[in-house]
Amino acid sequence: MPVPTKPIPKRPVRFDAAERAALDAALQKNTLWYLGSGKPDDAPVARTMQRYADRFGAYRAVSTSSGTASLHVAIAASQMPTGSEVIVTPITDIGTINAILYQNLIPVFADVDPDTAMPQAKHIEAAITEHTRGVVVVHLTGRPAEISDIAALCEAKGLVLIEDCAQALGATHKGKPLGQFGRFGCYSLNDQKHITCGEGGFVLTHNDDDYFLCHNYADKFFDRHGRGVRLHALAPNYRMSDLDGAMAEVQLAKLDQMVLPRRRLGDRLNDELAKIRGIIPQGRPLDGESSYFFFLFRIDSPGVIKCSRQVFRDQMLDLAGISSSGAYVPEPIYRSDYFLNKTFFPGRWPAEVVAGRTYDYRKVSLPGAETAVETGIRFILHEGFKDSDIDDYVAAVRMVAERNY
Ligand SMILES: *Cc1c(COP(=O)(O)O)cnc(C)c1O
Repeated sequence: MPVPTKPIPKRPVRFDAAERAALDAALQKNTLWYLGSGKPDDAPVARTMQRYADRFGAYRAVSTSSGTASLHVAIAASQMPTGSEVIVTPITDIGTINAILYQNLIPVFADVDPDTAMPQAKHIEAAITEHTRGVVVVHLTGRPAEISDIAALCEAKGLVLIEDCAQALGATHKGKPLGQFGRFGCYSLNDQKHITCGEGGFVLTHNDDDYFLCHNYADKFFDRHGRGVRLHALAPNYRMSDLDGAMAEVQLAKLDQMVLPRRRLGDRLNDELAKIRGIIPQGRPLDGESSYFFFLFRIDSPGVIKCSRQVFRDQMLDLAGISSSGAYVPEPIYRSDYFLNKTFFPGRWPAEVVAGRTYDYRKVSLPGAETAVETGIRFILHEGFKDSDIDDYVAAVRMVAERNY
């Protein structure tokens, strides 16, 4: 008889009188235009973005309408010639990849360390060709990637480095928030993330030129700052309205209350699972702090654990009432029909036409990524969890592991 499934704790109330007051104040202004009626640098959304820049250790931040938009803006502002290759992980949100495709650049997938499910510098180095111009690093689950090593590699090879920090709000490396180790740091504020404005995102920039370029790319290349550059390049409208900006401002103050409980619980879960033979948690970062967007571990199967990942998950549910999902993606992204058939655009893929090269993703095989996806298990973890919920996770994993040695 299967035991009853344990209910998953709900996230505590995320929006309260503070958000309502901020939204009301925005409405009272009778305009939701992101530049307000003031000067661009003094506009309400820009002022909120300055708070984000200060909080995340950047020079200035550019608001966008999503995390995908922030990645697209950063990639466009990197000015990599059409048809260049950009190295990226095959285990990420599709928004990371789409941002590369939008700009008619070619995603080249790097293998990953199966235990962290992220590429290390050596995996990225192995993917570099004469056509490589950039690297997008994803801090998966909010566990910082080995970003110092990767930044040193990109520097040595003259490659643009962009950080996808969408899952890493509040995470740090060497005591610093993520997004300042590459040329651009891209964040999402969609509803699933630690803090949200409904839909939105931002790009961290570290100098004037990059700031204005990202601003142009997020707003149709209009010359909002009177710099005499207008309609210079194809640029979408990714503006954030003042309603979203008002939400974003209030939510920023709540970031620590979302991240700190997750970090305490997640670090504990990491430490406890690491004691169980055959269980490999993603692990605490060596020189930083994770933000635990969710919790990722994998089973050492078929080596130590003699059942498949699916059986392991079924037994956790049936015998302990603990629900889980697979690794973050159902398959490494190069194995999706999308990439196997390259159905990015109707008709031919312009990037290949410009490059004069074709790319056959059917031939891509990255053993670390395949192991990470086939053996990975994801637990929900957020600030509404209690220590007893972590105890339940640990007990379920231990029981099922011990049945399958
Ligand atoms: C959420 C997410 C994105 C995309 O953000 P959206 O706001 O949904 O466009 C990109 N990359 C990663 C790693 C994400 O988790």
